Amino acid sequence: MSEIFAQLQKRSHEQVVFCHDEVTGLKAIIAIHDTTLGPALGGCRMWHYESEADALRDVMRLSRGMTYKSAAAGLNLGGGKAVIIGSSKTGKNEALFRSYGRFVQGLAGRYITAEDVGTTVEDMEWVLMESDHVVGISRALGGSGDPSPFTALGVYEGIKAARKWTTGSESLAGKTVAVQGVGHVGYHLVKHLVHDGARVVVADIDADNVRRVINDFKGVEAVAPDRIYDVDCDVFAPCALGAVINDDTIPRLKCAIVCGCSNNILADEDVHSRALWSREILYAPDYVVNAGGLINVALELEGYNTERATQKVRAIHDITTRIFNIARDENITTLEAANRLAERRIEALAKVRDRYVGHRPQRLGNRLRNG
Ligand code: NAD
Repeated sequence: MSEIFAQLQKRSHEQVVFCHDEVTGLKAIIAIHDTTLGPALGGCRMWHYESEADALRDVMRLSRGMTYKSAAAGLNLGGGKAVIIGSSKTGKNEALFRSYGRFVQGLAGRYITAEDVGTTVEDMEWVLMESDHVVGISRALGGSGDPSPFTALGVYEGIKAARKWTTGSESLAGKTVAVQGVGHVGYHLVKHLVHDGARVVVADIDADNVRRVINDFKGVEAVAPDRIYDVDCDVFAPCALGAVINDDTIPRLKCAIVCGCSNNILADEDVHSRALWSREILYAPDYVVNAGGLINVALELEGYNTERATQKVRAIHDITTRIFNIARDENITTLEAANRLAERRIEALAKVRDRYVGHRPQRLGNRLRNG
């Protein structure tokens, strides 16, 4: 028992819930990391974990990441995540997700679920039958739909902020951007870049996806997947996989900026954020610039509106600039700066909320705070 609480203490989690339903076979873990800013929001991952310990480690790591992501994005949400242990290919059915939904409902809004790796919008619609605390549902049901265009918009704003910070101009006209991975997000990112007059070089292991961007956007060039690190460019935008910035790739990079949507771009956060810093390559922290999808989905909580989503995602530009300024002023890496920005916001708002102000009726301010 003490080992479990030691684990909670290690990453300062508030609550971890184990959900078991013999009839449906549901085995899920919901981790609530921090609710200082608001209810813990984070997706539900369905994965065939090797062991229960792996599932627990994953959900605790991911839920902590969500606290930082929401806080840095300026959302009034805490960090949470859920995992369902099982195969997303063979283990899915309505009863399983409705059972999961009842556990989510039982948390009375402390945790808000959404889709993630291995789960889909359709799965969340089953959850919605049992719980009010789910986002990431289809537009037809009043949801926010595909988050990828918003994630791409946030990355694009991050790139412009990084360009402005390093060169004084955010224009991408005539600048070269190397995009690794042109799937859901990469495709939309290329669209913004080409529209701005950038020279875009792409790589993808899926030849159809490469063909699609070359056909759809004039002037896009392609290189073999392994050559993307060697492209002489202004910006390298990893939009495929994690851990692509590592000991092998850093010496090959010929860019001034790394800014992309992939999660966990750095193989080792400490080592590789410092390695980029010392090579004077500006790293726009992944969890900050890829928050567009989260910001978009979170707006379902106040009644979804595309215009407001676009406006809030564009704010990633200013947030990224603030992070660069903190890094410069405090002589720390941009990743440390992002973490500090998030932690300071949580600390400051925890103090504000210490004061009892009586019951506050449901007004626009409440809706904004929940957004
Ligand atoms: P996706 O699967 O649609 O696209 C990924 C693309 O990368 C695919 O075209 C794939 O063929 C390609 N790829 C895979 N391995 C590659 C390699 N070695 N070299 C070159 N290309 C390779 O995924 P996505 O939704 O576009 O997300 C991309 C990344 O961004 C993921 O890491 C994801 O976790 C992260 N992310 C996505 C969102 C979102 O809104 N979709 C939000 C936040 C973070």
